[in-house]
Amino acid sequence: MNRILRLVAAGLTAAPLLALAQAAAPLPVVASFSILGDVVAQVGGPRIALTVIVGAGSDAHVHQPTPAQARAVGAARLVFSHGMGFEGWMPRLLRSSGFKGTHVLVSEGLQPLRGAASGGRHGHAHDIDPHTWQSVPAVVHHTGRIADALCGADAAACPQYRERAAAYVQRLQALDEEIRRAWAGVPAAERQVVSSHDAFGHYAARYGVRFLAPQGISTEAEASAKGVAQLVRQIKAERIRALFVENIADPRLLEQLGRETGVRMGGALYSDALSPPDGPAGSYEALMRHNTRLMVQALRP
Ligand code: ZN
Repeated sequence: MNRILRLVAAGLTAAPLLALAQAAAPLPVVASFSILGDVVAQVGGPRIALTVIVGAGSDAHVHQPTPAQARAVGAARLVFSHGMGFEGWMPRLLRSSGFKGTHVLVSEGLQPLRGAASGGRHGHAHDIDPHTWQSVPAVVHHTGRIADALCGADAAACPQYRERAAAYVQRLQALDEEIRRAWAGVPAAERQVVSSHDAFGHYAARYGVRFLAPQGISTEAEASAKGVAQLVRQIKAERIRALFVENIADPRLLEQLGRETGVRMGGALYSDALSPPDGPAGSYEALMRHNTRLMVQALRP
C-alpha cells in the first residue's frame, strides 16, 4: 500500500493529504531551447514539469513564441535561457507573459568568446559567440547554475537536484575526455571544417579545431556573395576536406560551396538544436558524440 493510502487508512483529514499532494506537485519550469531543455531535464528529473520553447530541429536565434508558450512562461516558477544574445526574443516574452518567477541565464559567469576567435573571418569580430554548449566544460557550468536555481525554488528537493547534477557532471567530464581523445588521431593541420554559421567557436577553442562559415554567429545574418567567393578560394588554397551542413540552417549555400570546390559533404552537424529523440542527436551528450564522430571520420588520415 502506498503512503497516501496508508494515511487515508489511518483516518487522517483531507488537509494533510492536500499538503502532501502540493509537496509532490512538479515545479513548473521553462527552458528556451532544446539543448538547454535536455540539461535542465537531467538535473530536474521527475520533480519538474518542463516546457521547452524552441524544440528539436528549430532555430532559436529567430523564434515567434506562441500564445501557449506565453501562458507556460506566465505560469513558470523558473525560466532558463542561455543568454549572450542567443534568444533575442526572450526579454519581450518575459514581459508580455506576466512572468513572476526567476529568470536564469545559464551562461552568466562564463568568459565571453568573440566570434573571430572561431577562425571564421566572415563574422563580425566584435560579436560574442553565444554557442557556449559546444564546449562541454561550459555545460558543466550551466548544470551548476541550473541546480542552484532549482534548489532556490524548491528547497525540499534540493538534495535530489544536487545528486542528479553531480551524476550528470561526471558523465559530462567523461564526454569531454572522450572528445579530446577522438581528436588526438587527427593532425592539428588537418583540423579544418566548414559549416553553415559560426556556431562552433567554443568547440574550436576547447578541442583545437578551426571552423570556417559563410554566415556569422547568428543565422539572422545573410552570407555575402563576396564572403562566399573568398571562402571558396580559401577552401581550395588550404585544401580543406570537410564541409558540413547544419540541422537548423538552409543547406543550399553549403551545397553550392561543395559544388564549387569539389569537396565532399560530410553530413549534418547539430549546432543549435537537438534532433528528435529517435535521431542521432536526441540528447546533448548524443549531439556532441555525433558531431565529433562525423568530423573526425571526415578528417582522419
Ligand atoms: Zn547559432
